[in-house]
Amino acid sequence: MDLSYILNEYAEERSEYFQAVAPPIMQTSNFAFRKVEDLRKGFEDEYSTWLYSRGLNPTVEILRKKLAALDGAEDCLVFNSGAAAIFAAVLANIKSGDHIVSVRNPYTWAKKMFDEILPRFNVTTTYINGTETENFKQATQPNTAIYYLESPNSWTYELQDIQAVAQLAKANNITSIIDNSYCTPLYQQPIKAGIDLVLQSATKYIGGHSDVVAGVLTGSGQMIERIFNSEYNNIGSGIQPFNAWLLIRGLRTLPTRLDRITRTTTKVLDYLRNHPLVEKVIFPFDETFPQYQLAKKQMSGCCGLLTFVMHANNAAVIEKFCESLKHILMAVSWGGHESLIIPRCAGIKPENFIAASQEHRMLRLYCGLEDAEYLIADLQQAFDKCGS
Ligand SMILES: *Cc1c(COP(=O)(O)O)cnc(C)c1O
Repeated sequence: MDLSYILNEYAEERSEYFQAVAPPIMQTSNFAFRKVEDLRKGFEDEYSTWLYSRGLNPTVEILRKKLAALDGAEDCLVFNSGAAAIFAAVLANIKSGDHIVSVRNPYTWAKKMFDEILPRFNVTTTYINGTETENFKQATQPNTAIYYLESPNSWTYELQDIQAVAQLAKANNITSIIDNSYCTPLYQQPIKAGIDLVLQSATKYIGGHSDVVAGVLTGSGQMIERIFNSEYNNIGSGIQPFNAWLLIRGLRTLPTRLDRITRTTTKVLDYLRNHPLVEKVIFPFDETFPQYQLAKKQMSGCCGLLTFVMHANNAAVIEKFCESLKHILMAVSWGGHESLIIPRCAGIKPENFIAASQEHRMLRLYCGLEDAEYLIADLQQAFDKCGS
């Protein structure tokens, strides 16, 4: 299916809603029946019936079909957050006594689930350096049920060889799950590499305007139907129709936004690489990146999220830099129209800051839709305030 077709036409039955170009927001909690027999069918098989919007909803359906097609997946569920998608995907594939192999430092709330919630149900997690496929093999136990991947992750951009890990999972009858938030389906297609379940935070690039929190989960028809009939409806955190509509709108401009952001990021990176206060940049498509070859092999693009290490003798210099920015906002998240920054030291108590640590001097920058020159000027004036 053509990307343009998926984003502009696919799954939109305009004859059902007055040929309106924009789909309706079907803001309803329930659907009425005229025949008891039809209601009975609905109870028996909610996955093929308009019954109740915690399950299926027509606006959400349009979005689900488009997102499944984008991933090259058979089916898709959309959640009220990326965190809910992570939770459902993992919960659906473990039982008490199971074991998970996860990349080290996965997304914060994935880690909290592994460390705090799952041990209550006797499910344990081993964290590995996922840059070596061999480490997955080494950590695998007879009770390993899930390989949990995040490639790239969102501060240091460590990658896994997705195809190799997917093969290893299949050979051992282990479910592979990947967080694909960084790349989006436009720049990386893990289903095609053999991964079982792909999730992403749609809050980031799919929404694209910092006004929706949502998450996507794609996989085989069988797996997704099973999750719908269990975790999805039980957690009850499916996306609401209005938010689904906003994501459909976000999808229309996804390729355009990613193109623009990619070009801006290239310019901003060039600027940062050459700035005397920058010790190094970390970005998968930077030639100095340790896994540059793998990044080029399995990712068709690299967007707006990058990290740089600042020269600083203390945290105050980094704080001054961040607080001097006039346009780039200090805030969590990314993927929206606005550029953002987070210093690593914001997660470290001042007395624990170690100037010799590269990690402590990291700043994560997200380049949004502003002009590159506008962003560079903002960075420049903030660097100027920090002296050299
Ligand atoms: C933001 C994020 C999530 C969580 O998504 P929410 O929509 O915020 O719940 C998961 N993984 C990664 C890599 C993220 O950046």
